[in-house]
Amino acid sequence: MRGRRLERSFALAPPAADAALLALDFTRPREALLSDALALVIERVGRVERPGAEVLHALTLADRHALVRDALVVSGRPAIDAVATCDGCGKQFELAFDLCAVVLPNVDPRTTAVRLPTAADVERARDDLDLLAALLQCSRNGAERARESAEDMIAGADPLGTLVIESACPECGASVRAEADLAGSWLETLRRRASALIDDVHVLATRYHWSESEILALPASRRIAYLELIEAER
Ligand SMILES: [Zn+2]
Repeated sequence: MRGRRLERSFALAPPAADAALLALDFTRPREALLSDALALVIERVGRVERPGAEVLHALTLADRHALVRDALVVSGRPAIDAVATCDGCGKQFELAFDLCAVVLPNVDPRTTAVRLPTAADVERARDDLDLLAALLQCSRNGAERARESAEDMIAGADPLGTLVIESACPECGASVRAEADLAGSWLETLRRRASALIDDVHVLATRYHWSESEILALPASRRIAYLELIEAER
């Protein structure tokens, strides 16, 4: 299934259980962490049920990014925020990328001039040129010569890889360009949620002396109710 475009047919699992979120190792390298995180939310890819991190790791980056987008759309927050700085006046403002507005090209990786990179390709490569040489099955020199067109093709097949938004500065009218990293933003959101969960467990365990698993087994509404009681006592 490697190299096949499968993300057009998928199913998402119910929101990842808090215990599973806490079990994610956020110190793992990015692509490995992304595979683990996707495994929590993806119930089916193509005909593969419960694909697991290993299967997801073998997908192309383009397919993985499409799955991240789908997970965010289903979670009800299909937007990524980015801070842009105007080159004209130096003012900073927030731009939101509407993920639903990104149209995915219908690329068949079996017919592309460049093989599309998988997470495993990225991990094996020493640098960008090494990655390109592996995808083109040529030397580093050959990859250098083909670099521009090959990178354009890969980026074109994966518009969610680096989100680009261009806009006019509301202050001075100069053009402003912002970039955002979809997968990185999603992983950061998960990391912050896990960190907040640890804080909650700490507060409840300190006060009630329940175990971590007992606290995580509570419905979120009850956990919040107890946290509010503790807060009111302070
Ligand atoms: Zn400006």
